[in-house]
Amino acid sequence: MKCKGTWKEKTPSGRTVKRKCNNELSEYAIFCDKCGTPTNALSTKLNAKKNWQEVRETFTNLRGSFYKFNIFFLITVFIPIGAVIFFQKDLAQFIGIDKYLFLNLALLLLVPLSLIPFAFDEENYSQNFSVKNYFRKMKYYPKFFLFTLENIIFFFILKVLCTGYLIGVTVDPILAPVRVILVLHWITIMFPAPLVIIRKNVNPLAALKVCYTASAETRWQQFFTLFYVATANILGLLAVGLGLLRSISFSYLLIENYYNKMNEYRLFEKREN
Ligand SMILES: [Zn+2]
Repeated sequence: MKCKGTWKEKTPSGRTVKRKCNNELSEYAIFCDKCGTPTNALSTKLNAKKNWQEVRETFTNLRGSFYKFNIFFLITVFIPIGAVIFFQKDLAQFIGIDKYLFLNLALLLLVPLSLIPFAFDEENYSQNFSVKNYFRKMKYYPKFFLFTLENIIFFFILKVLCTGYLIGVTVDPILAPVRVILVLHWITIMFPAPLVIIRKNVNPLAALKVCYTASAETRWQQFFTLFYVATANILGLLAVGLGLLRSISFSYLLIENYYNKMNEYRLFEKREN
């Protein structure tokens, strides 16, 4: 594959000429390392919309097979997570601890459960959604617990810095939207991490670094992938919650498929520069 980029160059006589780059690119290049022109990777294989279309196709043929698992998952994982978020004030008051502390302790215990499907076997991933498989993969709970803890610590630091929480300092109100952006940015970069932890056998702390480096070029597409995940679930929720019986597994497939593409482009491997 040759680079199709061009640039303008001034000749000694002062004329501007257009030069073709023609740099030989590796199969997995996203940008030309000589002139910086993007290859078509971000508009084809690594594109969020293409990923969504691809997964939707697989999903349409399989969706009936997800209902049983999704009912189980909704009751044991998502409804409890929703409940602690929604009733955090009452529940914290009932137990007699701080609301923020309560919510984060509850999420620390519950969120790892929601990550277990990322530990399903890679082979025929979409066919591994079963309750039996879920319990078999519970052995990865401690790893996901650590990963969740890292995220909670990061969000806690953001909260302290952006709201003056605990330190009692008045902060600039501009920091409130800054915090929202940083949280979104963080989630965008880190969503492949549970898969990196399992498939690359990387520890939860190193996975953060791997994901950060990996996302350099695909960050926007990762953001759009998350946007599709959010849209699918909001629509699912609006359909009297019944749509969730589809959108839950669909979300995992979307994320897993995008991870596979990033992996194909060797984005999770150490890079020279
Ligand atoms: Zn080039």
